[in-house]
Amino acid sequence: MAYDVGIIGAGVHGVSAAFHLARRGVSTVVFDRGAPGCGPTGRSGAICRAYYTDAFLAEVARDGIAFLADFGERTGGGQSGFRRTGAFYLHGPGDVSTAKDTAVRLGGGGELVAADALTHLDTEGVAVAVWEPGAGYADPVSTTLGLAEAARRHGAEIQAHRPVVAIDEGPGGVAVTTADGSVHRLGALLVAAGPWTAPLLRPLGIDLPLTVERHVVAVLEHDPADAAGLVPHVLIDVAGGYYSTPQPRTQYLVGGVVPASPADPDDFVRTAAPEETARLAAAAARRSPARRRALPAGGWASLYDVSPDWQPVAGQVSERIHVDAGTSGHGFKLAPAWGDHVARLLVGDDVDPRLAAFAPSRFDGGAELAAGFGAARILG
Ligand SMILES: Cc1cc2nc3c(=O)[nH]c(=O)nc-3n(C[C@H](O)[C@H](O)[C@H](O)COP(=O)(O)OP(=O)(O)OC[C@H]3O[C@@H](n4cnc5c(N)ncnc54)[C@H](O)[C@@H]3O)c2cc1C
Repeated sequence: MAYDVGIIGAGVHGVSAAFHLARRGVSTVVFDRGAPGCGPTGRSGAICRAYYTDAFLAEVARDGIAFLADFGERTGGGQSGFRRTGAFYLHGPGDVSTAKDTAVRLGGGGELVAADALTHLDTEGVAVAVWEPGAGYADPVSTTLGLAEAARRHGAEIQAHRPVVAIDEGPGGVAVTTADGSVHRLGALLVAAGPWTAPLLRPLGIDLPLTVERHVVAVLEHDPADAAGLVPHVLIDVAGGYYSTPQPRTQYLVGGVVPASPADPDDFVRTAAPEETARLAAAAARRSPARRRALPAGGWASLYDVSPDWQPVAGQVSERIHVDAGTSGHGFKLAPAWGDHVARLLVGDDVDPRLAAFAPSRFDGGAELAAGFGAARILG
């Protein structure tokens, strides 16, 4: 069977692009070697914030969060699990000027806050804090399934457990072969395969400079006696090198905001080692007395697909092949709105000219983008 567009990868980016293509009437098929959300998307911390140093991404994130907050309506019944908690960003003295510029763009009650006004946190070394009231977190699996189901209702086909083993591009289109031996004819192909994007394209002579890192998320459980001291909002402690997210009841998640070790996407340790959890727990406890008695309650490790400037990569890599990848540790909340930009790119209609800055060709011409704060480029 032939389709206008085929997508490799049913992570949150692949299914979002499928949804936006299908609702425009484009015949679309998505292949994944597992179920939707089975890759890094399903292990995402899913923090949703519009605090981006890049003005375009700040706007995409704001649109993405609006979509997640109104998910049932937009998808015809899906659930994103979005919970608005607000977020504080803590910065050292070197970040003050960029933090001020970034906060100004937040709108909607986002503001700079004097460090000594944060009486619930130890703000040693913090020169400035920023409050974003609209931030929060969502459920990455439920979001991905909701988008996949909505794409299906608009006519897209989602082929789960269907690994793509070969891609051939010819003058008439792209042929994709899946592991069961079927060949699928496509007018165009979008590769949104996260850490597997670069290896999938290499046999075609397309060399994308994407690398893969293993990142750990620790789960911590508060001592019930400290429940009154729970940090009720997302905390991105740039000065301290970590983020934390409240969870229902008395748990919270902690992860790092700086680069981590390279990983082989097909062979990496998926669990968090006790010393990795302990390191993250200690970093988070420095700011909050109530966290000092928290107990480790598990954790996991998953993968970031990282571009040289830590910003997403979307654009054409050959006549009929596009990519949407390289979103490292900040692509979840972008996806519901980013997928609309990617869909418009694929159909060549009403493309936002600002998307061109994210084309993969930027790495050939020294046009890398700025991102985040110092080593914390994950803030985008
Ligand atoms: C630990 C962690 C924490 C994060 N925290 C946040 C956060 O707080 N906020 C935020 O916004 N973002 C966060 N992110 C980033 C965000 O989750 C990612 O940017 C996003 O999920 C990437 O989605 P994707 O669809 O591009 O790729 P993926 O989720 O990597 O999906 C790629 C898909 O391609 C499939 N695939 C691969 N090869 C093939 C093949 N040959 N054939 C068929 N299918 C194939 C895989 O099975 C997979 O399902 C985090 C990520 C991680 C790992």
